[in-house]
Amino acid sequence: MDIGFIGLGIMGAPMAKNLLAAGHRLAVYDIIESSMDALASLGAYKAKSPKDVAERSSLVITMLPNSPDVKQAVIGPDGVLEGAKPGLALIDMSSISPDASKEIYAACQAKGVEALDAPVSGGEPKAIDGTLAIMVGGNEETFEKWKSLLLCMGSSAILCGPAGSGNVAKLVNQILVAANIAACAEGLTLAQKAGADPYVVLEAIKGGLAGSTALNAKAPMMLAENWKPGFKIDLHTKDLGNVMAAAEFFGSPLLLSPILLKMFKSLQESGFGQEDHSALKKCYDLELLK
Ligand code: NAD
Repeated sequence: MDIGFIGLGIMGAPMAKNLLAAGHRLAVYDIIESSMDALASLGAYKAKSPKDVAERSSLVITMLPNSPDVKQAVIGPDGVLEGAKPGLALIDMSSISPDASKEIYAACQAKGVEALDAPVSGGEPKAIDGTLAIMVGGNEETFEKWKSLLLCMGSSAILCGPAGSGNVAKLVNQILVAANIAACAEGLTLAQKAGADPYVVLEAIKGGLAGSTALNAKAPMMLAENWKPGFKIDLHTKDLGNVMAAAEFFGSPLLLSPILLKMFKSLQESGFGQEDHSALKKCYDLELLK
């Protein structure tokens, strides 16, 4: 199948590689031209714009930072919808606000383009392995049509409800991940201050109720002071901003998310926005919120 892929960053590049490996032909686009080189060397066509991508594809996948980026690539000038042929489908796999997903879905419907929001969880390692957890919003028929394609990039794809529901699930995911990493940073700091060996503490607790994928992935990074992203502080701050907006819209109370957002913003203000979200540990080590 001819697939277009827009946004070739930490996640998009390995996801696109998995589609090539599954035998699909790819047209790729990223605003940073050099980001397309690795895929082009594997046989992908380097497109000139999202419109150019759409003209060559039956399906376009977007994997971009936030709502304005997806709107620009899909609805904007030289965007996907300008190049859409009859029967084109759009799957936006970015983590964006549910509101924006609904707006993009409506714009696609108006042009006869079927659309799904299908954000992911699992980070770079699972993007590389093709074992992401994919949470989908849209109609059932469209979901069933594209489910097997989604499973070239993930080990699960679950329809959560109508357009925007994939991104509601993703916001839930991001609250849990942020809280988990922050708790991990706080607990490891206590272990260190108490003179305990944090590696031994981790070994002792990871098989119990506190064990988690986030703990296994992020605690070793904190202890090694390895802040190479993974998932950038800037992007998790964006997700928590989207949590705040969605909670206000739906009248859902928040206690933890505002504190977590404050921690993330303190890291951004200190110049750590491009580091991995495991750098939440610096809120404690550098006493950023004192
Ligand atoms: P990234 O910053 O590494 O990559 C984003 C890419 O999009 C960059 O290459 C950038 O040049 C490109 N881009 C930005 N605006 C564009 C536009 N208008 N047109 C074309 N290209 C454009 O980000 P990432 O980590 O790959 O994350 C992508 C999305 O996936 C985000 O929504 C993020 O929240 C989500 N996500 C990331 C992870 C992770 O662990 N990194 C995990 C799950 C979900």
